[in-house]
Amino acid sequence: MSYVPSKLRKKIDWLFKRAEGALLPPALLAAAGTHLDPDGARLALRACEDDVAVVGDQARLAALLQAVADPSTRGDYQAANGVCGVRRFDAGPRTRIYQLTVETFPRHINNVYAVVEPGSALLFDCGSGLPTSRRDLALGFAVVRSMYEEDIRWEALDWCVVSHAHVDHYGGVNHLKRTSTAKLAVHELDARVLACFDERLVLAMKDVDAYWRRAGVPAARRGPLREMYMASKSLFRAEPVDRTLRDGDVIGPGYVVRHVPGHCPGLICLQIHDVLLTSDHILARITPHQFPQAITAFGGLEHYFRSLAKIRELPDIRLALGGHEAPILDVRTRIDEIDAFHRARLDRVLAICEVPLSVDEVSSRMFGEQEGYGVILAIDEAGAHIEYLHQLGRLRVDNLDEVATSEDPVFRYVAR
Ligand SMILES: [Zn+2]
Ligand SMILES: [Zn+2]
Repeated sequence: MSYVPSKLRKKIDWLFKRAEGALLPPALLAAAGTHLDPDGARLALRACEDDVAVVGDQARLAALLQAVADPSTRGDYQAANGVCGVRRFDAGPRTRIYQLTVETFPRHINNVYAVVEPGSALLFDCGSGLPTSRRDLALGFAVVRSMYEEDIRWEALDWCVVSHAHVDHYGGVNHLKRTSTAKLAVHELDARVLACFDERLVLAMKDVDAYWRRAGVPAARRGPLREMYMASKSLFRAEPVDRTLRDGDVIGPGYVVRHVPGHCPGLICLQIHDVLLTSDHILARITPHQFPQAITAFGGLEHYFRSLAKIRELPDIRLALGGHEAPILDVRTRIDEIDAFHRARLDRVLAICEVPLSVDEVSSRMFGEQEGYGVILAIDEAGAHIEYLHQLGRLRVDNLDEVATSEDPVFRYVAR
């Protein structure tokens, strides 16, 4: 398969989602709001035609054009591609999993899952709470009811299970608690982020800032980074958690919690029979973001590797569905790829650290000049790899005298 830039992939997905508005009943289209009006769908369909050859989606476009022209083919199109960002997957004898694609931040797409079977309706994650996120969730529920004829209502959910305390996954909890009967469940290591949000925000900012100092990020750059760090998190208000989860717990009608710390301390996968909802633990294309456990306990690469191995050993996982991106048909192969990627990155860090360098310097050698939130993510990623190599004794701190005597030392690491 040829390489497709992720921006183009996202654009095509977005255009298809809009273009498929042409398949919805007019009443639903009207209720869904102006972003899916018939004119918009027609325009999106035409825009698809320009880019689709690059991505290799000609067959899907042809099928969509046929479905628009001939309603008798709509069922086939929907079964193969879903409709308006909603796809259905079956798990076990009678459980349906609906994947709802939701724009949680500008050009940032999350997958939220509604898991339905007789007598039970559970939501896995709930978006960011921003207007685009709420809009796409409302559309998703309308599509599930109308196009898949599923009797599910947002107002009458049993559970919302939050996979981990990153705001694109839990930010919608405030809106959910005001508008739905859903009870809130989250892993015990992430519960305090939701329940004691104000404290968490202050303490996390302190810990991150202390890490940046030690990583050698100059004061002039730390100010704007702090603002950025706080900005994406300032919209949430603390929310009581109804149930805290632990590894092996069962929630709903037999869904099993798999605790997978690494990308986030309280990250869980939820096993629904032979399907695993992997959230940000395992994704189809990108390798999930890593940060050093010096910032927050239960993070770090050692935990992540162990959590990858844990999922690799689960028997009978037929399908994995991530918190972003496409379904994963072979989760073990994907785990091996991610594992190998990080092992190669560790080798690269060792090679870069032939001379003593700070985390910030390693980060810019690895990732070049980053912009916006990318700066924070790059420092986290470099920091996680340096920390792991240091834990293994393969890097050492070169300026030990300075670290011992200075109030505010920058650590410089060098390969042993
Ligand atoms: Zn995450
Ligand atoms: Zn995420």
